[in-house]
Amino acid sequence: MTRPLINDLSRAELAAWCEGQGEQKFRADQIRKWIFGKRVNDFDAMTDISAPLRKTLAESFDLFSSRIAAHQKSQDGTEKLLLELHDGERVECVLMREDDRRTICLSTQVGCGMGCVFCASGLLGFTRNLSTGEILEQVLRLDRLLPPLERITNVVVMGMGEPLANLPNLLKALAALEDKGGLGMSMRRVTISTVGLPDKIRELARTGKSYNLAISLHAPENQLRNQLVPVNDRIGVEAIMEAADEFFETTGRRVTYEYVVLREKNDGIEQAQQLAQLLYGRNAHVNLIPMNAVTELPFNDPGAERLRQFVDALERSGIVATVRKRKGADIDAACGQLRLRHEQPVAASYSPSAAK
Ligand code: SAH
Repeated sequence: MTRPLINDLSRAELAAWCEGQGEQKFRADQIRKWIFGKRVNDFDAMTDISAPLRKTLAESFDLFSSRIAAHQKSQDGTEKLLLELHDGERVECVLMREDDRRTICLSTQVGCGMGCVFCASGLLGFTRNLSTGEILEQVLRLDRLLPPLERITNVVVMGMGEPLANLPNLLKALAALEDKGGLGMSMRRVTISTVGLPDKIRELARTGKSYNLAISLHAPENQLRNQLVPVNDRIGVEAIMEAADEFFETTGRRVTYEYVVLREKNDGIEQAQQLAQLLYGRNAHVNLIPMNAVTELPFNDPGAERLRQFVDALERSGIVATVRKRKGADIDAACGQLRLRHEQPVAASYSPSAAK
């Protein structure tokens, strides 16, 4: 029998539980410091908590609900975990190392319902939302891969799923990372990537937190975007841009536009010019992501030359663009690929692909 996951509780909920046990509220922060700060994996290791309370904690909650089903390490220091959840479902999360940065990439759903035609996560459809505790568990598992003095510095919510379709659970998880009893992390180091759900973008802005917003645009106009991102059909680029502008006005945070570059699909000079026109006058940053090949999908990387021409065309129009570095090229680190491979074992010809 599984018990409730302790990290499904917010700080206030855990404090209330402690009070219900006849304990002081501050015990909640003590418990969380052990879990997040001191990386213990067992309630019994929480030595400043009384033995009876430790016992009640262990009888009342689970600290983890997943097991590591696969662990891959790349030559470049990137590590990827496939976690098997209590119900047998699987999600991926990634740790990337670069200079002083330790960036983790988190999933928010099992599968995804958005159906982007180039994305491995969408291939198997949407199964369910992750709970707050399941989102945090990815943080804990990845954090425990680091040596004692290293800490997670940045979080990108760019793993499996559509984060804004699971916003309450995500916000509760991020609050735990921000809490002093949690990781004490600044929300300026958190980036949430979305397919572009206008109402949810506004909701995110209203939280008053300094999250970075990244919008997965992938096409500068509706006809092409409808083909690549089917949910666009009932949203539209205009509504997304309006919500993004509001997000910038409310938060003062520059919005990033992600653009997966697909050879001969959306990588023409014409699209670069349309994109520049769309973003003209906006405080925007474009992040180009060369397509990570997925065996099952008929899309390709643009290649160095076409990519350079696309970047040049954007820059000539005054748009700042960066190309996302590839990480974990040797370990299936692109979103959803590891899970896909474990769900549907494919022939030995499967070619591991690069991560974003
Ligand atoms: N649902 C969210 C977050 C998850 S995907 C979103 O749409 O933003 C994170 C980013 O990876 C998105 O920009 C997504 O479009 C991109 N992506 C998905 N599949 C990819 C692939 N095969 N190659 C490159 N980027 C991909």
